[in-house]
Amino acid sequence: MSTTKSFLTPEEEQAVVEAIQQAEKNTSGEIRVHLEKNTTIAPMERAIAVFNQLEMYKTKDANGVLIYIATEDHKFAICGDKGINDVVPEDFWESTKEIMRNDFKKGNYKQGLIDGILEAGNVLKKYFPYCAEDDDELSNEISKG
Ligand code: CA
Ligand code: CA
Repeated sequence: MSTTKSFLTPEEEQAVVEAIQQAEKNTSGEIRVHLEKNTTIAPMERAIAVFNQLEMYKTKDANGVLIYIATEDHKFAICGDKGINDVVPEDFWESTKEIMRNDFKKGNYKQGLIDGILEAGNVLKKYFPYCAEDDDELSNEISKG
């Protein structure tokens, strides 16, 4: 692996955005990615704060999902809105996190994000299937702190 200054190259970022578009063809849920270097608080707490900053609660079915990564701290968290938490089992994000962990361990960040996003779309579709009237309620662009 080459050591690049940024976590993802512009091409890799584009591939991640395309994965979000792809995942959102399976589900009405809205997936976003936020990257920042460090967090001083627990990644899940920080993910919830970023979720609110990005106003990700502004979805009709409260089914926004934030994949949060503190890149230099090697920490990440997945934060779903209450519409999701109300209906899914406790370990709902475990398969997604496991996939991401495995790729991240190998230093394969782009692939970890893409696989994680696609898996998130896959598990979400059971509870929040895509429907023809579905809107792209939240931007697919990567947010950076
Ligand atoms: Ca949608
Ligand atoms: Ca979207």
